[in-house]
Amino acid sequence: MKAIVGARLIDGTGVPPIPNTTVIVGGDSILGVHPAGSVEVPYEAEVVDATGLTLMPGLIDTHDHLAHFGHDLAVRWGIDEPQSLRHARVFDVLKQTLETGFTTVRDAAGLDAGFRDAVDRGLMPGPRLKVALNFITPTAGQADRTSPSGHSPAVIPQPDLPLGIADGPFAMRAKVREMVRAGADVIKTAVNGWGRPTRGLGPRDQIMTREELDALVDEAHVMSRKVMCHVLGGSGLRMAVEAGVDSIEHGSYLNQDPELLEMMARKGIYFAPTFSVFYYHERRGSPHESARALHFREHHAESLRLALEAGVQVVAGCDAGAFVHGNNAHELTCLVERGMKPMDAIRAATGRAAQCLGLENSIGTVKAGLKADLILVEGDPLEDVSILEYGRAVNWVMKDGEVYVDRRLSRLP
Ligand SMILES: [Zn+2]
Repeated sequence: MKAIVGARLIDGTGVPPIPNTTVIVGGDSILGVHPAGSVEVPYEAEVVDATGLTLMPGLIDTHDHLAHFGHDLAVRWGIDEPQSLRHARVFDVLKQTLETGFTTVRDAAGLDAGFRDAVDRGLMPGPRLKVALNFITPTAGQADRTSPSGHSPAVIPQPDLPLGIADGPFAMRAKVREMVRAGADVIKTAVNGWGRPTRGLGPRDQIMTREELDALVDEAHVMSRKVMCHVLGGSGLRMAVEAGVDSIEHGSYLNQDPELLEMMARKGIYFAPTFSVFYYHERRGSPHESARALHFREHHAESLRLALEAGVQVVAGCDAGAFVHGNNAHELTCLVERGMKPMDAIRAATGRAAQCLGLENSIGTVKAGLKADLILVEGDPLEDVSILEYGRAVNWVMKDGEVYVDRRLSRLP
């Protein structure tokens, strides 16, 4: 048993911070949350002195790619290095991500279910993982990695990641089942072309029919899986909202069809704008990618503003794995820079993110009965949310009641 004593608590629900709290942890769960002096610390509890620190729920990223290390075809196909080396690098990323205060990450394609299970079994330290495995799209969509000359990663099989191509509604249903068979916690799809216009398919060009999407969404929901949908704008955006996907990923051009934001608010569809990845496309992409990302920028910021006005549930997902690992908190900085209140941005990466994942009864807030996923932060993230970036201000991390990071001593002179 542990008692975290003296911290100012931001509990992930959006209520104002509570000063000088005592939080009791037993096993992997939170047993109680008490204002100062209202509880006697049990004699058997190990006291964690958190005086002067901010206690928060472990952070949640709703959209990342922890197994991605670049955009080149060879890297994406995983043929530039042995699989064993790639896996070792992924485990390093998992450890690094946990140490920055992210105790849960939803991987939006690329990570196979074995990583999730290895972390769950305590073989390697890492955030709690929810995995999509791969996109499901028709031919020529994101799941189709065939090169223009017809070379396909299918000749170099990754047995733990099903290929994601399906054409027609029945094939969509079968593909959802195949993903679930391979361990998918969530179904990832894309109804439009890339942000980068490969194969002449731009970000507003629809690549899937309504019939196909309806089948995918229905099958996923039958199997109790949520659907996260990559879509930037155009007719595909309306189709995704009308078909009832569970979250819109990116949504850069939502501002061009504001009626959709009303529908999203009404239907409880989450919005993960993933500003962080666009930030990197702007700065590190090819000149063409960079120009395109700049074009998104105004629309995207306006989309967030209108979404907040409409009451859409906005969540934090960085999507930046192919550019950088270990800075998932950059998305919070991006959200605040574009007008979100810091407390709201924190909710977007804690309580609300847990709801987006359907895990609000086990993680995301600091409440008795929930898993003990907690972090201690030096300084006030409500004043400057960027102190969370790279875990700079995070000096203690607990997941499932177990302490993975304790840098509190380094505060001493
Ligand atoms: Zn992504």
